[in-house]
Amino acid sequence: MYIPYGKQTIEQDDIDAVVEVLQSDYLTTGPKPLEFEQVVAEYVGAKYAVAVANGTAALHLACMAAGIKEGDEVITTPITFAASANCVLYCGATPVFADICKDTYNIDVESIKAKITPRTKAIIPVHFTGQPCDMEPILALAKEHKLMVIEDGAHSLGASYQGKRIGSIGDMTTFSFHPVKHITTCEGGMITTNNKALYEKLLLLRSHGITREPSKLMKQEGPWYYEQQDLGYNYRISDVQCALGISQLKKLHTFVAKRRAIAKRYDEAFASVDNIVTPKQLPAGESSYHLYVIQVKNHDRRKVFEALREKGIGVNVHYIPVYQHPYYQQNGYESVICKEAEQLYEHMISLPIYPLLTEEEQEYVIQTVKELVQ
Ligand SMILES: *Cc1c(COP(=O)(O)O)cnc(C)c1O
Repeated sequence: MYIPYGKQTIEQDDIDAVVEVLQSDYLTTGPKPLEFEQVVAEYVGAKYAVAVANGTAALHLACMAAGIKEGDEVITTPITFAASANCVLYCGATPVFADICKDTYNIDVESIKAKITPRTKAIIPVHFTGQPCDMEPILALAKEHKLMVIEDGAHSLGASYQGKRIGSIGDMTTFSFHPVKHITTCEGGMITTNNKALYEKLLLLRSHGITREPSKLMKQEGPWYYEQQDLGYNYRISDVQCALGISQLKKLHTFVAKRRAIAKRYDEAFASVDNIVTPKQLPAGESSYHLYVIQVKNHDRRKVFEALREKGIGVNVHYIPVYQHPYYQQNGYESVICKEAEQLYEHMISLPIYPLLTEEEQEYVIQTVKELVQ
């Protein structure tokens, strides 16, 4: 038996949806990306959505659309996947790391405040594990300093903050459809926004900066004519992938309900265990639980981790503080310290959580963890 920390749910109707597109005329640049964009936009409550090749491409395009360039600074959290900061480097700008809140593990608004300089152009809050960041003070701070807010929502499809779904709140929100995330397109991503100008910029940049839209062309040379008006990329997603995404989105509600039920059982099981700390949830947020992270106290985390792996439990650690990676250490981040992030990193372990995890498997995880931390 091996229980992974995360896993996709693919059923026959998902397979049928994919096969149908494979047998159609359009494998890519057909009708499915737009259909997928429309259902996701409607689900999160945003006006616009742009589907792209993966979550990292979504972050890169969002930074480009926000006008992030050389000399700019963008504030994000160190407790995230490297892509949340790498997207800033892609634009020639500088990621600046703010510390996290001790209890929720999300970016701390006070620390953001302390890191703002005249060069700061944007904030990238990450809704870590699926728990929404406290967006109200973050948005207020952004407004005061005229900063763009690009939310990295890779963990938080299906989560909400003050009754609004993640994806409808900041200037732009990015999602990932990697198989460990809430729904999958194998590889895939999306940006949602309520801003029409950003939406049009994202569409242009997704496909080389090229437009064929007659009303947007500077000249009219003939029916073949198109223009490259900016330097974009090929960050398109295929119709095959979007068909899978559309099929998966129909089940998101059930997937999130299962994840919440699993999280609740972990919460209850560990509530009275001395050497385990579980994350505190903000009353304003409703997590969609991409991850379930515990902290192991008074024990060697590495020993506990290795023992869990030996017992067939595919635990993981999310995340190594981004600035501690050799690339960052060698490129100007060697003296960065985020105390709370480093403290959390020393103790954290991600436990299995995904819709197909059975109660029996979860019980085994709970019992095994309890025995090891006694
Ligand atoms: C998964 C993830 C990404 C990147 O998504 P990909 O689709 O793998 O490129 C970005 N940020 C966070 C927080 C993620 O977990």
